[in-house]
Amino acid sequence: MSASDLLALHALVFPLPLHFGRLPRRLHQLVLTASSKKYLKWLDKSVRAALRSGLKLPHDSPKAFFHAKIFDGGLGIVTLEHQVPLMKIKRIDPLWASNDPVIREMLSTDGAESLLARQREPSRYGGVQVTSGESLRTALATDLHSSVDGRGLRESDLVPHQHQWVAEGTGLLSGANYIGAVEVRGNLLHSAVRAARGRPNTSVLCGACQRLRSLGHILQVCPRTHGSRVARHDRLVALVQSAAGKAGWSCIREPAIPTTAGLRRPDLVFHHPDRPTYVLDVTVVVLTRCFTRCISHTTYSFTVQLH
Ligand SMILES: [Zn+2]
Repeated sequence: MSASDLLALHALVFPLPLHFGRLPRRLHQLVLTASSKKYLKWLDKSVRAALRSGLKLPHDSPKAFFHAKIFDGGLGIVTLEHQVPLMKIKRIDPLWASNDPVIREMLSTDGAESLLARQREPSRYGGVQVTSGESLRTALATDLHSSVDGRGLRESDLVPHQHQWVAEGTGLLSGANYIGAVEVRGNLLHSAVRAARGRPNTSVLCGACQRLRSLGHILQVCPRTHGSRVARHDRLVALVQSAAGKAGWSCIREPAIPTTAGLRRPDLVFHHPDRPTYVLDVTVVVLTRCFTRCISHTTYSFTVQLH
């Protein structure tokens, strides 16, 4: 591929995120032409390099982060190496049912049989045979969620709509904020622990509290960022309150509720004339904790405390 082709490829995926959907145009050409596995692999590598450069991602970003589905925690970029052969088979298979003598004659030639045999040979991803789009999705998601950086994304598909911003963008995010949000989502932001990979003698301790200075520590634990965490929490509460108000709910913020277990002060209590009253506590959970367990734990604690 020439430099101009590479630039064209680069233009297909940039500027992010609105051009994510334009890659399939090139995909159509690849499906209809002879394209070797080596060439497709090279194209995938070029796309990842372009994304790494544009999104300022570290060189050791997991490969699966680029290609896993958005609702599985990835960026949803097409894996040409695996998807083009699958799409070719999907196009060729209906030809076997054709009664056209010319098509049947073409399919029986040695060249056609050899080409079909090559396309039908299942590719492999991480030891898993890719025989369908679903098996590819599972292999990519498993690879991403088993990596150190991607393990916090393993329950992403429980809240698929919360990941749509990656593909669609939003007027609330500037380009720099979008890049930062992608880095935080993928656990790819710079931290002492990340920078020390492969460098055993590098210090990984936080200067403020002497714990491991990982991204999780900075975002959730460190006393240095306590003020920012409180501000983040308050902004989320205000966002939920505003959205609920627009939907016709009355909200009381941080009411003092006496219970048998003592005074409780939940973030929000929602009233609606035609619906039950809801109590809501907003929490940003640690990546490594089970999302469903966090939800059930919060629900259970309020049930006990309020009755
Ligand atoms: Zn600290």
